Amino acid sequence: MTMSRFFVLVLLVLDCVVASSDVEWDANGYVLYCPCMGRFGNQVEQFLGALRFIKEMNRTIVVPPWVAYNHEEGTSFTSYSSWFDMDELNKYHRAIPMETFMKELAPIHWPDDGKSRKVYCPDGATKRSDDGKSCPAKIGNPFGPFWDHSNIEFTGGSEVFDYGKMWGYNAKKWVEGYPPSAHPVIAFMGAPGSFPIKQEDRGLQKYVKFSSKIQDIALSFIEKSLKRPYLAVHLRNGMDWVRSCEHVGGSTVYHDFMGSAQCCGYDPRKKHTLTKEMCLPTKTSIVEKVRRVSALHNVSHVFIATDKDAMLAEFRDTGLELVKYPSNYPVVDMAIMTMADAFIGNCVSTFTSFAVRDREVKGLPNYFWAFEEEHPKIAHEEL
Ligand code: GDP
Ligand code: MN
Repeated sequence: MTMSRFFVLVLLVLDCVVASSDVEWDANGYVLYCPCMGRFGNQVEQFLGALRFIKEMNRTIVVPPWVAYNHEEGTSFTSYSSWFDMDELNKYHRAIPMETFMKELAPIHWPDDGKSRKVYCPDGATKRSDDGKSCPAKIGNPFGPFWDHSNIEFTGGSEVFDYGKMWGYNAKKWVEGYPPSAHPVIAFMGAPGSFPIKQEDRGLQKYVKFSSKIQDIALSFIEKSLKRPYLAVHLRNGMDWVRSCEHVGGSTVYHDFMGSAQCCGYDPRKKHTLTKEMCLPTKTSIVEKVRRVSALHNVSHVFIATDKDAMLAEFRDTGLELVKYPSNYPVVDMAIMTMADAFIGNCVSTFTSFAVRDREVKGLPNYFWAFEEEHPKIAHEEL
């Protein structure tokens, strides 16, 4: 055989090998989970915790789609990569989207053979199952719809773990107790990450970068409708929020309420008390803060992101140019908030907390309603 024919042969063989599956199986195993608690902001906080845990286990993370709830359209799912960049995530740790895992790897390595597809849940969760001893992985919304969306039935049954013995989601315990040889794919019923987010996981936000699609939408909107420097504000004031804030400021002193540690701090000895006003600021104080921060940063344009009331009437007298994204597109609102020259958000909101962490990583200034200190306080604690 001549040398050139030999190379053609090698190329043909290589081509076949690559074509059979573009994705290589990771012998260290995989972790899947359902982001079954809360909406986008909550899901991201737990995702960052899960990301660290799964890296410490040295398994590949199978990145779930985001879950969204809508009165008219019901529960919907958006693949991670439609909003965020998989390559950036892979700079921190081996990650593949759920869709790729199910299409490329599951048919061969996690077959629906009546034993492989097991769901893992803590012992405490079994109480809610029909027989009282299995994982209620598909009972209720979003549990059922989430796994159905990826065509997953847990035909292999349940693997109930002793939550206390595993120290919850302690990576070392999991490596010892559930080696990949016996447990190649661990599908957790819920997110193996804490809520609210732990302080040490905040910085992982830097691996969560918007996809070029979302970046392009945000940048062209900024170009067309805003003028730098611009201020972005997050107004969280829908009915669900008003109800959540009712609990704050009563006889119980709250520090850790959803995103509040971003203002109140993480050090138990030095925590700032959470006030009702921080959760649900008055309109007067909001307008006043917008005036003050706008003057400080010399902005003429204010981008308003909100789940409900943009307060356009209240802001009118400020003389500032008020800009809203024309449709309800939460992740685009988020992108525009992260790109702003200055930002004011809600201490308690985990939707705010995404923007705050992203901006913290980039060293951009953050302010909060009814909270006077400027954000660098937390950056100092982190050192
Ligand atoms: P949190 O409840 O504020 O901690 O944040 P979550 O993300 O858990 O839930 C709030 C949900 O309300 C978000 O996921 C969005 O769907 C919606 N939402 C909140 N703020 C905004 C906003 O500024 N713009 C848009 N479009 N939606 C928002
Ligand atoms: Mn929420």
